[in-house]
Amino acid sequence: MNFDVAIVGSGPAGATCAALCAQAGLKTALIERTQFPREKVCGDCLNPACWPIFKRLDLETRILALPHSRLEEVEFIAQHGASIRVPLARQARGEIAIKRSLLDQLLLTRAGELGAAVFQNHTVTKIDPGWILHTTGGSFSGKIVVAADGRNSTVARLLNLLPASARDRIGLQTHLSAPANFGSRVALHFLKEGYCGAASIGDGELNLCLVSRPRDLDALKTWALNHFQIAADPQWRTISPLSRAPIAARNGNLLLIGDAARVVEPFTGEGIYYALSTGELAARHIVDNTLDAYPKAHAALYRGRLWINEISRFAVTHPRVATAILATARVTPGILRFLTRKVIGS
Ligand SMILES: Cc1cc2nc3c(=O)[nH]c(=O)nc-3n(C[C@H](O)[C@H](O)[C@H](O)COP(=O)(O)OP(=O)(O)OC[C@H]3O[C@@H](n4cnc5c(N)ncnc54)[C@H](O)[C@@H]3O)c2cc1C
Repeated sequence: MNFDVAIVGSGPAGATCAALCAQAGLKTALIERTQFPREKVCGDCLNPACWPIFKRLDLETRILALPHSRLEEVEFIAQHGASIRVPLARQARGEIAIKRSLLDQLLLTRAGELGAAVFQNHTVTKIDPGWILHTTGGSFSGKIVVAADGRNSTVARLLNLLPASARDRIGLQTHLSAPANFGSRVALHFLKEGYCGAASIGDGELNLCLVSRPRDLDALKTWALNHFQIAADPQWRTISPLSRAPIAARNGNLLLIGDAARVVEPFTGEGIYYALSTGELAARHIVDNTLDAYPKAHAALYRGRLWINEISRFAVTHPRVATAILATARVTPGILRFLTRKVIGS
């Protein structure tokens, strides 16, 4: 099957790009290896910067109609239990938490509504010259191919673009019943074994994420089981690597978007925003036929925002530093409020 645009992966990046390319009248294929709805290793938190993109996709009301939690504060908890709470602004389109099964299904549905041909249960396994994509369900060709297939991008690997991943940390995630009185908050624990993020996601459920080096994973899981009084080891989803070098955002007629191009530290909860915004950006350059300008625009989108993400990565990989930052912030809480607002924009 021949398409103007063939997009591999229907996370927030791929579905957004497909929706906007199809809306502009391009013959668009959205090729996804799983069958939706599906969960993902993710903290489920949506940065408020996502709302203008949802508005352009005409999805604001439909997202708010899905089960979610409106997050009211972030609690930073140091190694020995001292904690600081930073309230989040009460705004109509603020930080919310929503299951990825719900959000990603809605985005995929929207891409279909706007005219993209959606192929689920199709895994890209081989790429031939001329941008022929072979999948487990048949072959596709695209005048332009978009890699939106996440941090372990198959497209990048098949084209020898994926950087060798160093031995890195592992991310674990599960959904649980929220403890009584957990409230509408995100709790971020800095621990010597790694870090833990817990967020209320509505309907009495909690999203629990753990991040650590492989050697500390069992200890971190044990900590989480005790701390959240979890009776039996839950079904953990896992992902690795947590960080890797970025890949050039364009390679001929291939554009990379979302995690496939650049992975950010999950701690600040911005990955979905970058996925949506690079999906939108790539669609604009495809529709306007300005592929040359895409890499510069892609780099500009991250510029000026990444420094807090880098600080966060340093803090979470050096828990003693994080504890020292939190001790300072207890005396001068403005610092933490400033950093939180820089990320969350509230
Ligand atoms: C522990 C952790 C916590 C996080 N918490 C947050 C958070 O709270 N908030 C936030 O904004 N971000 C968070 N993130 C980051 C966020 O999950 C990602 O940045 C986001 O999912 C990237 O979206 P994407 O569309 O680029 O890729 P993905 O969401 O990874 O989607 C890629 C899609 O491609 C498909 N695919 C893969 N290979 C193939 C193939 N060969 N053929 C066809 N399809 C394929 C996959 O099935 C998948 O559906 C977190 C990440 C981690 C690891």
